[in-house]
Amino acid sequence: MEKIDCDQVLDQLSEYLDEEMRAELCEAIKEHLARCQDCKVMVDSVRKTIVLYQKHSTIELPMQATVKLSAALAREYGREPGRAD
Ligand SMILES: [Zn+2]
Repeated sequence: MEKIDCDQVLDQLSEYLDEEMRAELCEAIKEHLARCQDCKVMVDSVRKTIVLYQKHSTIELPMQATVKLSAALAREYGREPGRAD
């Protein structure tokens, strides 16, 4: 299996979350997330943000834009969005 780094996780995240990724790369990301806490937190945050968008917004944001924005925020704050402490 190919190894990927943190930047590749981010690059492929929209497809990963969109479940359109080829299985091999999906596995590579899962494997990366299993050993990289930073990316795991980031992916969890992005996933939650996307769910919130889909629930509360009638605006259809492009998946790629949503992922990049959410990932940037998650990296900036290093925790779930919306917590005020
Ligand atoms: Zn990573």
